[in-house]
Amino acid sequence: MSNTRKAYRAAILHSLADPAVVGVEQSYEYFEDGILLIENGKVAQVGAAAELLPKLAGIEIQHYCDALITPGFIDTHIHYPQTGMIASYGEQLLDWLNTYTFPTERQFEDKAHASEVAAIFLKELLRNGTTTALVFGSVHPQSVDAFFEQADKLNLRMIAGKVLMDRNAPDYLTDSAESGYAESKALIERWHGKGRLHYAVTPRFAPTSTPEQLELAGKLLGEYPDLYMHTHLSENRKEIEWVKELFPERKGYLDVYDHHKLIGPRAVFAHGVHLCDDECKRLAETGSAVAFCPTSNLFLGSGLFDLNKLEAHGVRVGLGTDVGAGTSFSQLQSLNEAYKVMQLQGKKLDPFKSLYLATLGGANALYLDDKLGNFLPGKDADFLVLDYNATPLISYRMQQAKSLEERLFALTMLGDDRAVKETFAAGVSVHQRS
Ligand SMILES: [Zn+2]
Repeated sequence: MSNTRKAYRAAILHSLADPAVVGVEQSYEYFEDGILLIENGKVAQVGAAAELLPKLAGIEIQHYCDALITPGFIDTHIHYPQTGMIASYGEQLLDWLNTYTFPTERQFEDKAHASEVAAIFLKELLRNGTTTALVFGSVHPQSVDAFFEQADKLNLRMIAGKVLMDRNAPDYLTDSAESGYAESKALIERWHGKGRLHYAVTPRFAPTSTPEQLELAGKLLGEYPDLYMHTHLSENRKEIEWVKELFPERKGYLDVYDHHKLIGPRAVFAHGVHLCDDECKRLAETGSAVAFCPTSNLFLGSGLFDLNKLEAHGVRVGLGTDVGAGTSFSQLQSLNEAYKVMQLQGKKLDPFKSLYLATLGGANALYLDDKLGNFLPGKDADFLVLDYNATPLISYRMQQAKSLEERLFALTMLGDDRAVKETFAAGVSVHQRS
């Protein structure tokens, strides 16, 4: 943690609330020439340079020209073991899992391999300006040890868990209800609440867990405060039919999780592409969250996420990449595809809503909005510097832009890792673009 005070000067933009709730104009704060003052790894103050500069005598100021500082991006659904299989050809969900995912995840039995991939994965997140993520490990507990060891070294706020999977998967990749419970418990004792790390109880999805395993997952959530629950829900139509066959006694897919006490605050469900009204209502009233993963939903042909429907029910929604089914670590690219997913449904995605989804909305989905998501004083100093001259085309496009809204929108369409000049975690620079 940085013990000194340091200030950063550039254009500064952050979300204050959900535009769907307060209206776009009230949803953000912007300083054309702003100062972000950091003290001991936390935000001390944000404001206009003209106002703050006179009070900063003796404090080092880093000045970025043609740049925009925003809070760090938050990825509410991603699989670190799938880093090496991103962009695997040709299948939809269930065949994709059998053909590519399971053989890849088998390699995480080897802790050294897991550590190597965890390092590559975290570096890639930071290169893309993502400072917090909700992360799937593999079924092997050592995969989660490897991940947390690397994240802890960088003092990142990360949430992860070991996959629970005791049926409908190859023998080499299954645990049992009891071993999954015991291994998760040991990981929780070791990592949950250490530094900026949090544990997520992580059943892969209903089809690969027996009712006994789901029961014990629910028991774990009852045994420790503030644990996360992270799984998949209603992604693909064949998957939904399969869940109905496996759990004929339940009302629907969400009800399988509900019955086993796996929903509520800090429960995050990836996808939710085909939810019915009753399920949206239940997610909202229990304070559960859904991760909208546009690049993955398009890549696997899963369907079009109905953001407005979930919004209307008051469901918490964050943005996820879902790498390796997602095709980019960049949340700017997630927003690019999110915009198109909305267009295909005859709807719009306002650029300030996009900013919210990638930052404060993610923090809200994860119940971390007291610590992350914007620059209110006391929050973790996790932020990034976006470069208006990242590429010749972005630079030229920015010259034509007449408003902040236009610049922001163009960044979400054209930007990716190249647009991220520098990334900070708890006030410390953790990535500088070369
Ligand atoms: Zn996923």
